[in-house]
Amino acid sequence: MRNCWEVKKCGRQPGGGRTAELGVCPAATERRLDGANHGQNGGRSCWTVAGTMCGGKVQGTYAGKLASCLACDFYKAVCFEEGAHCESPRGLLNRLGL
Ligand code: SF4
Repeated sequence: MRNCWEVKKCGRQPGGGRTAELGVCPAATERRLDGANHGQNGGRSCWTVAGTMCGGKVQGTYAGKLASCLACDFYKAVCFEEGAHCESPRGLLNRLGL
């Protein structure tokens, strides 16, 4: 199963080519989400991670970015691939202590 940085080719994961701009994206280092939807760290649950860097700028909280994430191709692909086993937003937020 591919993580967001492998699909989006953002280069913002540890060791990626674009970490000098804004640093490493928190989705790629969020260990509490490791394994969620078969992803590495938050790589397949990035919509619940605050401060991700999609589109080349730092995004806000889960609530603030929800609308754009719901329209994201990667989000839709994860939901499709995981089907009924896709981890609910509530479950993901619980992992984050939110
Ligand atoms: S959430 Fe966006 S910016 Fe962050 S690693 Fe995934 S694709 Fe890249």
